[in-house]
Amino acid sequence: MSATRNRVRSLIDRHGLRLKKKLGQNFLIDDAIIRKIVDAADITSDSLVVEIGPGVGNMTTYLLERAGHVLAYEVDRDLASVLQNEFEEHPRLTLIVDDVLKRRLDDDLEKLLNSFEEVVVVANLPYYITTPFLMKALEEARHIDRYILTLQLEVAKRLTAEKGSKDYNALSVIIHHLTDPQFLFSISQHVFLPKPEVKSGVIHLDVRSDHVPAELETFFDFVRTSFKQRRKTLLNNLHKGYAIPKDSLQNFLQKQGLDPRVRAESLSPTDLKKLADAFVEYFFS
Ligand code: SAM
Repeated sequence: MSATRNRVRSLIDRHGLRLKKKLGQNFLIDDAIIRKIVDAADITSDSLVVEIGPGVGNMTTYLLERAGHVLAYEVDRDLASVLQNEFEEHPRLTLIVDDVLKRRLDDDLEKLLNSFEEVVVVANLPYYITTPFLMKALEEARHIDRYILTLQLEVAKRLTAEKGSKDYNALSVIIHHLTDPQFLFSISQHVFLPKPEVKSGVIHLDVRSDHVPAELETFFDFVRTSFKQRRKTLLNNLHKGYAIPKDSLQNFLQKQGLDPRVRAESLSPTDLKKLADAFVEYFFS
C-alpha cells in the first residue's frame, strides 16, 4: 500500500474534506508514479519549480526533496489550509492561494528568480484549465524554461501529435511552434483518488525562445481558421474564415507551391508558419 494513498485518506478524514469535481480534484496516490514524474522533470537545487494545484501536497513533498524552491498555486482555500498545516511555513515553499489563470506569472517568478538557473513547471493539471493555462503561460511567461505536465491522455496525445497523425490539430501546431514537445508515458486511472473516467499522459515541453511574441496572435488565428473544419480543404476554411474569394486563395496557394485541395492536417507546423507569413504579406500588407 502506497504511503501517499494512506496519507491522502487520513487527511481527507481528519479535515473532513469534500473533493470538488469542478476543480478537477483527482489526487495522484501512487508513490512510484509520482516519483517517475518527478524523475522525468530532472530538477535540481538550481531549479525553481512551479506547481499548479498542489492539492494536499502529494507531489509537492517529492518536489521539495530535489528543487531549490517550489512556488505553488492552489485555488481551493480548504486544501490550502491543509497544505499550510502540513508544510508549516517550509522555507523553500511559497504557496499562492489564488486562481493561477488570474496571476501575472512573471511578476510572481521575478520575486524568486535570482537564485535559480531554470524555471520548470511540474503539474498534474485539472482538466478544465489545461488549454487556457498553457496558452496563457506560453504567451506571457518569459521566465519558464520547461513543463512536465500530467493531462488527460487524449489531450496529451493531441498536444504532442505530429502532422499526419489523427490527433494533429490546431493546438498541436501552436504547441510545436512554441515548444519542443514530447510524450513521455501514460498513467492508468487507478493511481488517482477519486478515480477519473479516463487515462492520463505525461508530456514534456521544452520552450523555444526563438518566436516573436507580437506575431503569435495572427499565427494562432490563421492556424485555428485553417483547422476549423478538419475534413475541409485549407482553401475552404480560409475562404470561410477570412471572407477571401476562392479564386484569389487558389492563386495564392499555387504561388506557394501547394495543391489547392491541400488540407491543413498534411502541413507541418513549420510549413504552416511560413504559409501564415506569406498569407499576411499577400492579402493584408
Ligand atoms: N497535485 C495534486 C496531485 O497530483 O495529487 C493535485 C492535482 S489535482 C488534479 C488539481 C489541483 O488543482 C486541485 O488541488 C485543484 O484544487 C487545483 N486547481 C484547480 N483549478 C485551479 C486553478 N484555477 N488555479 C490553481 N489551482 C487550481
